[in-house]
Amino acid sequence: MSHSEPGPLSPGEELARDLVSGEFEERRLSALNAYKILDTLPESAFDELVQVAAYVCDVPMAVINFIDRDRQWFKSELGLGAQDAHLELSMCSHAIKQRNLFVIPDTLQDPRFADNPLVTGPPYLRFYAGALLETAQGYPLGTLCVLDDKPRELNERQTELLPALARQVMGQLELLWANARQEEMLSELEQTRRRLAALASTDELTGLTNRRVFNQHLDQALALGRRGAPVASLLMADLDHFKRINDSLGHHVGDEVLRTFARICRDVFRTTDVVGRWGGEEFVALLPDTSVNQAYSVAERLHKRLAQVPVHCGEARVEVSVSVGIVALDPDASADANFQRLDAAMYEAKAQGRNCTVAKSP
Ligand code: GH3
Ligand code: MG
Ligand code: MG
Repeated sequence: MSHSEPGPLSPGEELARDLVSGEFEERRLSALNAYKILDTLPESAFDELVQVAAYVCDVPMAVINFIDRDRQWFKSELGLGAQDAHLELSMCSHAIKQRNLFVIPDTLQDPRFADNPLVTGPPYLRFYAGALLETAQGYPLGTLCVLDDKPRELNERQTELLPALARQVMGQLELLWANARQEEMLSELEQTRRRLAALASTDELTGLTNRRVFNQHLDQALALGRRGAPVASLLMADLDHFKRINDSLGHHVGDEVLRTFARICRDVFRTTDVVGRWGGEEFVALLPDTSVNQAYSVAERLHKRLAQVPVHCGEARVEVSVSVGIVALDPDASADANFQRLDAAMYEAKAQGRNCTVAKSP
């Protein structure tokens, strides 16, 4: 078994199992917890095994129970009508200290149980037989037990079959554990896949869409445009005199400016807009269903926010501005041709003195 169950028993621990205390008990409990079976809902596979156990042993009551730190919890029960029991009253807590099948033919004849409230009062238990639920490593987790309100013996077949059914219970437990582990692994795999997909599509520094994925969106928008989708606008923003910031304040301040600008973009643009880092200090945005005039208003907000949101270098405030070009997306032209017009609009803004927007109508 590969899960986080404690290792095999050493001879010393074999002795300790008689005590069911101390370190052995802690390791037994951690083995039990690894299965995550306690306090789970009833399951038909276990209920059916309990029914078979009662039928095979010809008794009215049967239980699959697990011995927790201070309680006995029933995964499945027939004829008892309880979910758990106090450990002091529990016969199973005796049973898990034994290697083999634990049988009390008549509780009233057994000084350990004669005055047990479950014997002297309802359900008046007179007969008990419990087969260990034991892990491959030898940790006893609980028992599959059968009970009667009359004294009785188990015949040879029943003595063989009850432990065999207990092994089936353990098999079922292993199966549940393996299924749960598989689901966990699949969900980890899916998370990794999503992380990788996000990494492959975003710019590392700013978290914005990278150039490759922006181009995919642009191709899609062009195709939609050719099929008559509403007009879209294309916007390019280039930070002004960014080299000076790097040169005078350092590359790390330059990086902080790029991250701040990306944050502002996330606020200013709609979630349906695609905002990407084209490269260096150049950013692009695709605004579906947006006229050039509407895109111009967005750019105005961009200038305004950039003037308001401070980037600090020590005590000093770094002044950042941006030059913006806007064009209406022409679906009949190629992506490259659209970008040439966009570039030209942005350079016109630079030529007009920077910190402004030039928008070109179709
Ligand atoms: P203009 O107003 O004409 O656009 O001037 P500019 O200085 O912004 O333009 P220029 O093209 O001369 O310089 C861009 C600078 O951006 C140069 C480059 O080192 C810097 N840069 C590019 N990528 C990064 C980056 O990831 N981090 C930082 N800190 N700087 C970058
Ligand atoms: Mg540039
Ligand atoms: Mg620049």
